[in-house]
Parts: sequence; C-alpha cells; structure tokens
Amino acid sequence: MGEVTMPLEPRGTGTALVVHAHPDDEVFATGAATLALGHAGWRVVLRIATGGEAAEHPAVGETEARRLRLAKLSRSCELLTIAEYDWLTEPGQWVDRGGAQAGTLARAQRSDVVDAVRQALAEVRPALVLTVGSDGLTGHPDHVAMSAAVREAVRSDKAISGSTYGARVRAADVAAAHAELARLLAPAASEPELQIGSGRMVGAGAEIALTEIGLDQSGRAAATADVAGSWIEERRRAALDVYESGLGTRPLADVVAGRRRQRRPPGDRHLALTESVAEQGRLADLVAEQGRLPDLIAQEGPLPDLIAQEGSPPDVAQGRRRLGDSVILRAVFDLAGWQRDFFELL
Ligand SMILES: [Zn+2]
Repeated sequence: MGEVTMPLEPRGTGTALVVHAHPDDEVFATGAATLALGHAGWRVVLRIATGGEAAEHPAVGETEARRLRLAKLSRSCELLTIAEYDWLTEPGQWVDRGGAQAGTLARAQRSDVVDAVRQALAEVRPALVLTVGSDGLTGHPDHVAMSAAVREAVRSDKAISGSTYGARVRAADVAAAHAELARLLAPAASEPELQIGSGRMVGAGAEIALTEIGLDQSGRAAATADVAGSWIEERRRAALDVYESGLGTRPLADVVAGRRRQRRPPGDRHLALTESVAEQGRLADLVAEQGRLPDLIAQEGPLPDLIAQEGSPPDVAQGRRRLGDSVILRAVFDLAGWQRDFFELL
C-alpha cells in the first residue's frame, strides 16, 4: 500500500497528545511529526511512563537517573516544540530496567496503564494521539506495552479513536540501515562480528498502510516546505544529541567509528572486567575457545550506551557485542529522511 501525507489542519487547530514509555522516544519515534505539528500551530503535550532509567549509568541509582533523564527530556521538548510534558503517573511507578524485568512498564498491569492513558486523554482532550506502533517501533517490550495500552484506552473514546497513530519504521529502511552499518563496520579479520541491534526491530512491510505525519505541502511553495524540512531535521538532530552527544549530528561513520574506539584492543590485559562483564571463569573459557583474550567492551562509559536500548547484560557477559537499536534508527533517519515519521492507525 502507498503512503499518504496526513493533511494537517491550518494553524492553531488543536492539541496533540504524545504518549511514550521513555524519555528519548519522543525524538526517535515521533520527533518529526511533533515538529511538523508545532510548525503548523498545534499544541503538543507529552506524557512519559518511565524515567528511562536504564539509559543512565547504573552506578547513579534510579532516582538520580530519573533526575538526569528529566533534565534531558526538558531540553528535548524545548527543541521539539513540545509545549508541555509530564510523567504519565507518579514518577517511579514504572521503571525502565532495559527489558521486561519486574517493575517495568512491560510487566505492569495492563489495566493500570490503560487507566493512566485514559486519565491523560480526559485532561488533555486531544484531537490527535501519537505513540509507537503495535510492534513497539523497535520491539522494546516497554514500547509494545505502551502501544497496546494506548490502543485499548482510545478504543472506548469515540472522540479520538479514529485519530490515534503509532509510529513505525519501514522494513525496507531497516534493511537498508543494516546494510549501511554492516558496510561501515566491516570487521577486521581478527575481530568477531559485531551484532547490529537487538534483532527485534523489523519494520513494517508493504502490507501495512502507513501514514506520514509531516508537512502538508499542498498549496505551499516548494521553497517553504524545504525550509521547514531542514528546520525539522536540524531540531531533531539536536534533540538526539541531548541524549547522546553526537548521535544526531556527527556523520554516521564517525558515530560507528566512535563506538569501535570505545572497545579495548584485542590482547589488552587491562580489561576493566566488572560485575556486569565476565566472571574470571567465563573469561578463561573464552580465552580457551579463541586462543586469545576476547575483545571485550570496556565496562566504563560505553557499556550503558551500547546496551541501553536492549538492556541485556547477559549478552555482554557472554562476550557478544552489539550496537544498540538507537544506531539503527539513526541510520534509518539518514536514509529515509529526518523530517519524516510514518504511522499506522491504531
Ligand atoms: Zn524507548
């Protein structure tokens, strides 16, 4: 099926409610749509269910992680023309632990999350609701739970049930992003292959009708649309940088090269093996298997970044390495355009 650009009403026509699991989802999933809405005069209100705690260094603790993340969220909202943001419920009710551990949104009582979304709908009375698609955009279990809860909450709400959209990436763009990253990461012969992403992000195939929420270019001079398009791109890249310096604005090759440099060179005997990496016994097994010290990721600094989107310390403990899904999304934006977001009707 083809894609259509959702025609936005003229300026100042309504309020859009954006609901997400984590701070930074507003950039990755709905950043372009939000900017297009803001540009067209919509008032955009954001509700976030968790503090995105897993993205900060585990040593700081969850309360401090939430505080750090909130400061980033605040700056991101400023850039994305989000007029108002708040937690969906009490901060800390659900915590981002990287996966589907106890206390996460993924493990919450569905009815609690649905009730919270209904309450936000009653307060904000939006004309449009945006969240992530039914596949959670990246397959993150918190995202999948969020999308399902929003879908259920709007089902009984006639005012909004036909105007609720979930962000998707296109399967073809995900495939192209993988190919591009594989090219940039072409491993040296001595290196084991670096896994790209969690493997959960598949994207929407041609069987799913996608709506692009972006600038309504009909009736506008092309030059105006171009200016607005580059304004959207610039703002969205800057918002991504708020969460991870350079992820939005550095060339993709540099982002990837930077991640490589964060790994210790093979044979480095000063590996910072800590609680989240291999125990000595496991390391000995790896050395026996590979005939040398594995090129483990240094624990300090890059590790939380690399696993932030997937939160899978076991992967790291087993010596498997991968780039986060955030880098795949970054590559998708480069390929498909930073100024476009695609949605399925929920
Ligand atoms: Zn997220």
